[in-house]
Amino acid sequence: MLRPLLLLLLLPLLVFSQTPQQKVRQYRRANEHRIIDEFTTLLAIPNVASDMVNIRRNAGRILQLMKDRGLNPRLLETATQESPPVVFGEWNTPGATRTILVYAHYDGQPTNPAQWTATQPWKPAFYSAALEANGQQYPQFDTGLINPEWRIYARSASDDKAGVMAILTAFSALKDSGVAPTSNIKFFFEGEEEAGSPHLGEIIDRNKELLAADAWIICDGPVHQSGVKLVDFGARGDVNVDLTVYAAKRPLHSGHYGNWSPNPANLLARLLASMKDDAGRVTIADWYADVEPLGDAERRAIAEAPQYDEQLKKQLGITRTENAGKTLMELINQPSLNINGFASGDVGALARNVIPTTETAVLDLRLVKGNDVQRQVQRLIAHVRKQGYYVIDHEPTDAERAQYPLLARVIVRPGGYNADRTRMDLPISKSVIAAVQSTVTDKIVLLPTSGGSLPLSIITQRLKTVAITVPIANYDNNQHAENENIRIQNLWDGIETWAAIMTMK
Ligand SMILES: [Zn+2]
Repeated sequence: MLRPLLLLLLLPLLVFSQTPQQKVRQYRRANEHRIIDEFTTLLAIPNVASDMVNIRRNAGRILQLMKDRGLNPRLLETATQESPPVVFGEWNTPGATRTILVYAHYDGQPTNPAQWTATQPWKPAFYSAALEANGQQYPQFDTGLINPEWRIYARSASDDKAGVMAILTAFSALKDSGVAPTSNIKFFFEGEEEAGSPHLGEIIDRNKELLAADAWIICDGPVHQSGVKLVDFGARGDVNVDLTVYAAKRPLHSGHYGNWSPNPANLLARLLASMKDDAGRVTIADWYADVEPLGDAERRAIAEAPQYDEQLKKQLGITRTENAGKTLMELINQPSLNINGFASGDVGALARNVIPTTETAVLDLRLVKGNDVQRQVQRLIAHVRKQGYYVIDHEPTDAERAQYPLLARVIVRPGGYNADRTRMDLPISKSVIAAVQSTVTDKIVLLPTSGGSLPLSIITQRLKTVAITVPIANYDNNQHAENENIRIQNLWDGIETWAAIMTMK
């Protein structure tokens, strides 16, 4: 009898002495179904940046979520008001001397619905586990606490509407529990990150004072493959290039003209093959020349990170990796050259005996600190020339066809940007590391740069600030692909992570 009584007497004291993290967890547990409802309602709105009608519906929905929370949000527009707006809000703390801006994006990658098997991209579906682990679909969650191993499948479930929800829910949890943040907090939700953030610079320039902060802290991307939380101090730069090679002006009968008229698929295959050696190292001249070496803290972080490459290879069904002998973590600190896809003629049911007229590849150039987007593209173009091609930026004219045996059209897609890296030994870096570490007992992973890209240089150069990324999604989230998903526990952990950042020392 004594024990329960003692507990009862102690209960108020226990509640009172809860840590902010415990309060946030308690808030989440009491509101799980409401959080998931808000989340899936947002996920149900199509969010490709070029779909202006729906992208504005997303912005409007987030605006409403912020109003519901007592924030006073507004939209930040471009001059023409024809681009996806930023949803912005502020939470000021009396006496705070530091200002952080928290960032997530609400747009998602375009996708082909026909390739989705779990559900349709904007029809959120609940699964008891990952599809690959034989997860079963259920119409809804049971009442009571939600099984945190369940997943929600939908476009942007992890990239990056989970970020929007984790940030907004962390705010609600702190406010509801009466925990004051330690910084002034600015909220910034972008609507065209997956399109390469073509107007982020303009929106920053139009709102420089409003967006000034000691650091931009970004919620995007997956945690470490081992499941451990991580902090990224940089992101790779990125630029896409369309590369087209030309054969005869019209499609030709492959019997009448084969062996004589050049085939564009052969031409492009050779050209692409010339860009990498058998080990997977890019052979384009000076590709790695201006890579800025890592500092001591950064090298130590890579050495201390969990070794996960072998498990990963098994999971992915690959036995051989490029640049053998180097780890994934080391290699994401190098620039890359990826073929996103290429096409010429038809395959499958539409296949026919023909010599196609062109073949096009889309190349993805990832950049690291020290690389410059224009310089790197020029190196690629110089390489194409070195293989005998005359490089143009338009469909070839008859005169060009008559003069040059090999023609390649190179189109650099707009919106490319450089990489960015924040030093790990800055005071703000140390505060963020301590905050994220305080939420878990496992040693968190510190990455000098993530493999993915974010337009951090657009931010840090214009605003003379630093950017640090704290991702929350499960690594097996199918980000950018079909069947994108989030593991519920990652969303729950993300809420605690972001509450810790808002209350960091
Ligand atoms: Zn993202």
